[in-house]
Amino acid sequence: MKDHKNDPGAMSTRRLLARRRALAERLGSVEEVLAGTLAEQARRCGKVGCRCADGEPHGPYTYFTARPQGRGRARYVPAGAVEVVRRYLQRGEQVETVLAEISAINAELLARRVLE
Ligand SMILES: [Zn+2]
Repeated sequence: MKDHKNDPGAMSTRRLLARRRALAERLGSVEEVLAGTLAEQARRCGKVGCRCADGEPHGPYTYFTARPQGRGRARYVPAGAVEVVRRYLQRGEQVETVLAEISAINAELLARRVLE
């Protein structure tokens, strides 16, 4: 459902400008952002006689795939780094959401011929 309260088309230009400023201030530092996905996967190592051959696989291990996807496949994330990666991903989503809203406001300002 669309949040009518934040619909740029329904806001006065003055409110749009104020909201744009508030959003930009809320952004804060954008250093700790990351775009991509984490996935967990269990693995079989392939060693003869290992318990994983016919029993429990190893892991699960965590893998990160960056977005946009470059040459990268999923990269292994050490267990000690998973929480940091989660934090960066969450922050990245917040920043993307705020930037998308600022962009929508600017598109509305453009439509009103008051973008400068
Ligand atoms: Zn194994």
